[in-house]
Amino acid sequence: MAKTVSHPAKNNKILFAASEAHPLIKTGGLGDVAGALPAALHDLEQDVRLILPAYREAMQTIGDLKVVSLRMQNDPHPLRLLEGQLPGSGLPVWLVDSPRHFDRAGNPYLGADGRDWPDNAERYALFARAVSAVALDQMGLAWRPDVVHCNDWQTGLVPALLSLAPARPASVFTIHNLAYQGVFTTADYRRLGLPAELWTVEGLEFYGQAAYIKGGLAYADMLNTVSPTYAEEIRTPAFGCQLDGLLRRRGDRLVGILNGADYHEWDPERDRHLPHHYSAASLQGKAANKTALQRELGLPRAPEVPLIGLVGRLVEQKGVDMLLAILPELLQQPVQVVILGSGDPAFETALLTLAGHYPQRCQVNIGFSEGLAHRIEAGADLFLMPSRYEPCGLNQIYSLRYGTLPVVRRTGGLADTVTDWTAGPDRATGFVFDAAAPRALLDTLLRALQLYRDDPAGWRRVIGNAMACDYSWRQSAKAYLDLYQQAMTHASAGKTP
Ligand code: ADP
Repeated sequence: MAKTVSHPAKNNKILFAASEAHPLIKTGGLGDVAGALPAALHDLEQDVRLILPAYREAMQTIGDLKVVSLRMQNDPHPLRLLEGQLPGSGLPVWLVDSPRHFDRAGNPYLGADGRDWPDNAERYALFARAVSAVALDQMGLAWRPDVVHCNDWQTGLVPALLSLAPARPASVFTIHNLAYQGVFTTADYRRLGLPAELWTVEGLEFYGQAAYIKGGLAYADMLNTVSPTYAEEIRTPAFGCQLDGLLRRRGDRLVGILNGADYHEWDPERDRHLPHHYSAASLQGKAANKTALQRELGLPRAPEVPLIGLVGRLVEQKGVDMLLAILPELLQQPVQVVILGSGDPAFETALLTLAGHYPQRCQVNIGFSEGLAHRIEAGADLFLMPSRYEPCGLNQIYSLRYGTLPVVRRTGGLADTVTDWTAGPDRATGFVFDAAAPRALLDTLLRALQLYRDDPAGWRRVIGNAMACDYSWRQSAKAYLDLYQQAMTHASAGKTP
């Protein structure tokens, strides 16, 4: 009998480039994805390497790093490539080390004043050049990827730079949020010596400036975003952030792949941040987490009062303005509201001021705390995500697993993951509203509170449905394998998009 030929989808070499990855450094959903998807691909027998800037926090978290390359052709800035392992998964990680650009405390994109680092154009051009050099095996690593998977504007230049190489790997670009585009001036572009041939309307130029995200959108062999609904929405002017024309043009290369949840990190049965563990079969631990959360945050211990949680960036995208508009009326009800987040200083101040008026009912925490985020997911009864748009959203997926019923707007990934109560007690997993209007949010919350109060059995059934949802990474990782295959087919056809 003839020997079977090895499967072509196996053992692809994948270079996964991102500007954040949990647990090295994280500001939002991109960090969760870049920390979990490469590991899920690795579990599918792929040869995956993660590449990130060598931020101080990332270097400290890995600890054990060795220098694997000092070289980089054609770049005025000397840099080193460090190699380590992603804690938890053991996945190989390369860190692009240029201390002047990345060895600083705090947020990867923003200074302590909350504004973008003034040298972001230079930082992410440098990172993109390093990623391209690794992708073209110019760093002496003796490893050449089949596919380079880039994520968001910080890596947008990579597919553009690769398009200029005579022989290159396939490229995939994932849009985690179209509104963040990495727009810089022509002066920056020239000063950084970025290739003149990429400065075209079809290329990086964007209304007289350079948009790094366009490098991904225009030049990657395949594009995707992180939910099927958002993949449709971004082709329209309302959601397209002035890039919908380009996305419609590239529509045959654009798909939606829903993010997964990392259930090693987000599972109430073993979550290391929780004082009490629980499962769908035994919810006493959830009640105990609620009491513990009330104690932790100085709220009255009240097991019967519905606790509403929100964790996220406090920006207009997340509907914080709508929440602010309804909070005074909502807080007339017997409820407790717990908020964790940071973002727009005006929203932070308004929320803190409001909470000051209702110390027994509303508790606002400004900052970033992984542990508190988990404890809110576990201790709350309802989780709020009234987003104006939402590429995927992870917190509602975590909420489902924690039996904390999500209240969401029907948009993007929220529409793809939460089923409204009106679908009936066999199918409902939460509460969904349509209009981006405070009244719609308040009405839906009141509807949810009524169910909580009047129909405990119905409430428990919805919890059961929610906790039974499975959004693990395995399925999504397989969809990415298909996407890589398509990208390789297009790349080997030899045409630059
Ligand atoms: P986005 O990527 O738009 O910020 P997602 O819902 O996709 O939103 O992902 C947000 C991720 O960041 C979740 O893991 C959430 O728990 C986390 N997160 C957001 N803000 C905070 C915060 N202030 N403290 C801790 N975790 C946070």
